This record gives sequence, structure tokens and C-alpha cells, in this order.
Amino acid sequence: MKVQQVNRFERNDKLSFGYRREVILINTMLQTITINLWDDLALNEGQLLKENCIKNSIVSFYNLKMSTYHRFPQLQSTFTTGMLQNPKCNETERINLWLEHIVGKRSLNRLWVAKSIKECEEIKLEQLMDKKITLKNDMHYWFKATICEIENKSKPWYEACASCLKEIIKTTKGISCSNCTKQHVQIIQRYRLRMTVRDNDTSARLTLFEDVASDLLVAQ
Ligand SMILES: [Zn+2]
Repeated sequence: MKVQQVNRFERNDKLSFGYRREVILINTMLQTITINLWDDLALNEGQLLKENCIKNSIVSFYNLKMSTYHRFPQLQSTFTTGMLQNPKCNETERINLWLEHIVGKRSLNRLWVAKSIKECEEIKLEQLMDKKITLKNDMHYWFKATICEIENKSKPWYEACASCLKEIIKTTKGISCSNCTKQHVQIIQRYRLRMTVRDNDTSARLTLFEDVASDLLVAQ
């Protein structure tokens, strides 16, 4: 489980603020799912989760609703959503047994990365940069490369439009989003790390967002 920082955004009425927090869970099939907690749940239960987020915690949610973001399913909290940490039930026991036998002393996150890479097709950075292959939609690929330089280590975030997540533009007239073509949009801060990577003679500029970017910053 990974619990992100809470984001505050201005509501459409311009009079109040809303709150959103992402929680990323891994199930026993080593699949990830993102849950967006909104408002009170983001602030209270979300903060509790963040503070008590010990390794391999088990959490159960009820009354969530489903949505998709960039073709990936996401769950959203509703007014009736509730949450339990390490609930006393058979399912918790089953997951604990799985953690003991399958995960053991390894890290759940590393298992997930290893499993995800196995399901992807390996490509060379050179093939990608020289457009020697056609990438298929709905397919994941991986390549090996080393980081040469991180360009924005001192400011690894950007100010984004809360509804479309694109970078906002600040002018003398105010804050606008060119994507939503709206003035005075709500702003959230998102991680964005720009870097140059290299494999043999090929180099490429790479941009990482959110948890991938923050994981790398922590690892550094
Ligand atoms: Zn926008």
C-alpha cells in the first residue's frame, strides 16, 4: 500500500476547498489499484492510513464507486465509503498466509515490479528512439537504461490543473488551463522529474510523474 499526500483544491463555487488523496493498493494477484479518497476521508482516514502505513498492511474499503483514468480502472470514495485496517475476517487471514508464504522476506513492491516486467515486452532504447518498432496500444514495454542526469532535482514538481492534471499557466490576468480552456482553475502540485537516460550510444529524455518520481527521489 502507498498513501500519497493530500491535495487541496478550490471547488467550483470558489468559496470552499476540497481534498483528494490517492491510495495505491496491491492485491494478492500482484495487481495495483488506485483509490481516490475525497474530502473528509482524504483528510481523516487518509491521514490515519498514511501514519499507520506499515509494511504489508491490509486494508478494506466498502461503498466505493468505479471510474477509469487513461484506460486504467480507479476507485473513488463516496459519502458512504468506510475503511477498516486489518479487519478481523477470513480474508485477512488468507492474505496474511499469502504474505507469509509468497512474499516472505522479500518486498511486496519488488515482487510487483518483477511480475510487471515479466508481462512486458523488452525493447532497446535505440529501437524506441529511432522509431524502429511500432508500439502497440494497450501494451507495456520495458527497456534498460542508466540515469545520466536529473534536470530538476531542486524543484521536482509542477503546478497542475486539478481537473485535467496539465500544467497551468500564470499570467497577469490570473491562472488558466490551456487544456480545459478555463480561467481561474484549481491548482494541485504534482511530482514531475525530468531526466536524461542512456543505453550504449542512445540517450533519451524521460519524464516521470507522481509516485514513480517520488520513489526515485527517495531512493536517491
Ligand atoms: Zn485543465
